[in-house]
Amino acid sequence: MKSIRDIYKIGKGPSSSHTMGPAKAASIFRDENPNADAYKVILYGSLSKTGKGHGTDRAVRDSLAPTDTEIVFNNETDIELKHPNTMDLIAIQDGKETATMRVYSIGGGDISIEGREETIRVEETYLENSFAEIREFCEFRYISLTDYVELNEGSEIWDFLHEVWKVMQQSVRDGLAASGELPGGLHIQRKAKQLHEHIQLSHHPEIVECQKVCSYAYAVSEQNADNGLIVTAPTCGACGVLPAVLYYFKEKRKLTDDDVVRALGVAGLFGELAKRNASVSGAECGCQAEVGVACSMAAAALGQIFGYSIKQIEYAAEVALEHHLGLTCDPICGLVQIPCIERNAVAAMRAINSANLALFLADTRVISYDMVIKTMYETGINMNRRFRETSEGGLARIFSRRGGNI
Ligand code: SF4
Repeated sequence: MKSIRDIYKIGKGPSSSHTMGPAKAASIFRDENPNADAYKVILYGSLSKTGKGHGTDRAVRDSLAPTDTEIVFNNETDIELKHPNTMDLIAIQDGKETATMRVYSIGGGDISIEGREETIRVEETYLENSFAEIREFCEFRYISLTDYVELNEGSEIWDFLHEVWKVMQQSVRDGLAASGELPGGLHIQRKAKQLHEHIQLSHHPEIVECQKVCSYAYAVSEQNADNGLIVTAPTCGACGVLPAVLYYFKEKRKLTDDDVVRALGVAGLFGELAKRNASVSGAECGCQAEVGVACSMAAAALGQIFGYSIKQIEYAAEVALEHHLGLTCDPICGLVQIPCIERNAVAAMRAINSANLALFLADTRVISYDMVIKTMYETGINMNRRFRETSEGGLARIFSRRGGNI
């Protein structure tokens, strides 16, 4: 399994697969073809269907600037694609095509370049590739999951995760301070600030908890929707879940930053396993692969914070993902706003419930994390493509059929 660094990428929203990945591909192509007079970029599949809303064209143009770039949204449905997020980059010099590159944006900001899969493969950091193997390794040696992370990644991993945590906290704070309309034309007003300011008005502890956690999730997700700086966990669209619960419990339990980064380390294992053995791409497997995995990472992080055993941590992560199985990706107008922002808040609360449940029920567990990842993948690849980040099904379709009227 790769390093957990792979799951946490610091960058600008709103989409890891539709902005971060294509921007990375464009930068590589520009560096390889610096003398081109112009570039042409053809987007296929989900990149074409929701690329405008997600800002794929802007991200690609920015990476290829100042050279002129033509963007083509190819919506032909009879083209066989190896991955739903496919793009072709073409360099043009003196009116002739001088180079082409086919790229797959495979989720979480990662790309795969056709014909170069071997050369850009990131080194494996862990020998274990399933949670069953990780659990066995740790239990045999009487070590914790955080010891396991350090053993494989080296102690420098904590410095990296401190950086990640700094950006996550800043995205919460920036999101809570901002107000106004989100870009894209849906006329959605930011809600985090308002939600947070109303906390004082409530006297019910469970409502206060919900308002705080949800306001933090809204804050980060709204920053993402507004092209702000966030951390993928495991993706941009699902970036609000993990910081929300960590920000809340840091304050509630007076945790140190060291406590939090260790929780990030444990969460990273679950995210990386999902990425390796299934997918974290909404275009490939629906929202279960994005917000579902984010929820499992947050539940595992909470298990670490609550001092759970490895078995309890696994149960928390498993429950969190299991109850997102089948969740579709249907962003309205291709924007990472509805249902994405609210969904992050709901998943943050679900992560807390999953972690609480694990305290009592871990001994009764019959489904493993490995099983639920496998199920998520099988469910995802069998899902109708309308529900995999094309904005042609679900809420996106009903909303557009009604002309935006509720
Ligand atoms: S619905 Fe889920 S998977 Fe789809 S764009 Fe929104 S957050 Fe990402």
